[in-house]
Amino acid sequence: MRPPQVLREGTKKTVFVNFMDLCKSMHRQPDHVMTFLLAELGTSGSLDGKQRLVVKGRFAPKNFEGILRRYLNEYVICNGCKSADTILQKENRLFFLRCEKCGSGRSVAQIKSGFVALVGRRKAGT
Ligand SMILES: [Zn+2]
Repeated sequence: MRPPQVLREGTKKTVFVNFMDLCKSMHRQPDHVMTFLLAELGTSGSLDGKQRLVVKGRFAPKNFEGILRRYLNEYVICNGCKSADTILQKENRLFFLRCEKCGSGRSVAQIKSGFVALVGRRKAGT
């Protein structure tokens, strides 16, 4: 996997430039990866007009890399044969990871979502 390319935008935002490329190389829906990433970072964010992921807060490339590594282990890599040639399927309300190489499958954890950004809502210091 290529390392994340990260830029600072002002003092309060971080731009993940090659987010879409990394999603493509993992063969995963950007929405799913983004939900995981934002939940793990504990922040909010969205794609901009250039398809870059803009998140609130200051983060280093290694922050993104660590989370993407966890994402790969949980949602991409087959436990049986360690292949990344897998498909993530939604069945009912659960996600299943199916391996194209060895045919094994497993259910995967749901992403903890519903994070509410508190950034910017803090009361001014007294
Ligand atoms: Zn496998």
